Amino acid sequence: MAAKGSHRASNGRRATGGDHTTDKNRTTGGNRTTDGRRRSGEHRYAGAHRHSSDSRAYSHGGHVSRRSARAAVRQARTQRLAALAVVVACALAALTLVIAPFAAPTLMRGRDTTTGTGSPNPPTVTHATLERTAAPELSPGGIVIGVNGSPTTIMLKGEEYVEGGAHAIDPDDGVLTAAIQTSGTVDADTAGDYTVTYSVRNSKGNLATATRTVRVVDSMETQNGGIPVLMYHYVYDDATPPADLNNNYIAASALEQQLRYLTDNGFYYPSWHEVRAFIDGTHSLPKRSVVLTFDDGEPGFMSVGGALLARYQVPATSFIIANDGNAPQRMKDYATPYLEYQSHSYAMHQAGGNVGHGGRISAMTKQEIIDDLKQSAAVTGALDALAYPFGDTTPDAIEAVREAGVLCAFTTQYGWANIGDDPMVLDRVRIQGTGSLETFIGAIQ
Ligand SMILES: [Zn+2]
Repeated sequence: MAAKGSHRASNGRRATGGDHTTDKNRTTGGNRTTDGRRRSGEHRYAGAHRHSSDSRAYSHGGHVSRRSARAAVRQARTQRLAALAVVVACALAALTLVIAPFAAPTLMRGRDTTTGTGSPNPPTVTHATLERTAAPELSPGGIVIGVNGSPTTIMLKGEEYVEGGAHAIDPDDGVLTAAIQTSGTVDADTAGDYTVTYSVRNSKGNLATATRTVRVVDSMETQNGGIPVLMYHYVYDDATPPADLNNNYIAASALEQQLRYLTDNGFYYPSWHEVRAFIDGTHSLPKRSVVLTFDDGEPGFMSVGGALLARYQVPATSFIIANDGNAPQRMKDYATPYLEYQSHSYAMHQAGGNVGHGGRISAMTKQEIIDDLKQSAAVTGALDALAYPFGDTTPDAIEAVREAGVLCAFTTQYGWANIGDDPMVLDRVRIQGTGSLETFIGAIQ
């Protein structure tokens, strides 16, 4: 099962390269079947996290085909007297000539897809325990699809696999998350790598896929007690600080320092499903687990911050104020596989209440809150996590959020999210824009 998944994993996002490869293997036959099998084998064991070496395997495969073609021609020349051999060799050579032009564009398209998106260069950082997947690619038709949380899920053998899901958005269709099909099997009782594949089609029929490597390990150092869920707001380019600069803003250079620290030190980014299971006390997380959240879907964060997250391949959640008229377009414009959109409510991010910071949630009935969250989910395509507007909660609000099916809901109260906490009222670690890297490091461990 892992084999099947890995194969699709490496090919899927390259303009349905997987299908081409399969066809090629099937049609070439003879010598090239052997090559084809070897290529498939490489995919089987390479896994999604070795994307770049897969690319090389592909190029290599192409050369092998052409070399085989020349060998076949030579073979044909030396065996002219053997009529049967001539027929066989000519058939092989002809087949190669027919196939080569198709094979080449397939490879080309794969490379074009990678470079054509303007995907940022991966930073040259060492990653202590986790290998990272490829830089973001644009799928056919411009669909952006990404897994939720770390692309390599780490789980302890014998525990239940917690499926983290994926998110997808299309420039024309908007969010496609609900339409994502998930396939693959994880044997949680046997250590090893497994692949889960997520695929979705847009209304034009373009297919986009993303893959998750699930690594079942015999043992690991685990995160004890709780997990830091970081709360950020706005991000600005150092060269153009905002007029109203305050502690809710973080400079791109400061955020980049933090992201580099996280990647250099092998931090793990669980999905919301994993966080919930962890809080419930039913699931272990690797030591050095952390979650990054950014409130409000602010343009500076979406553009500058989103690009940095993609560059460092750090998954994060953007809590979107769904009734912001610009939100749907911004979500499409700045979509990356590393950014998932969750709820900061639909129309509750405004004054009108008399609890806490005065958000209107405290003046709403339970049903009104549930309806608001449903409207929010229609915009973001997900309701796994919620940031209460201004952090305000009431007993009705908490019950509404629970009934709406939210997995994890956060206030602005400072602290870690701890095992045994009510998952509807979780604390977060506010990151002050002017804080030092040492303060950041101290807050997450
Ligand atoms: Zn907010």
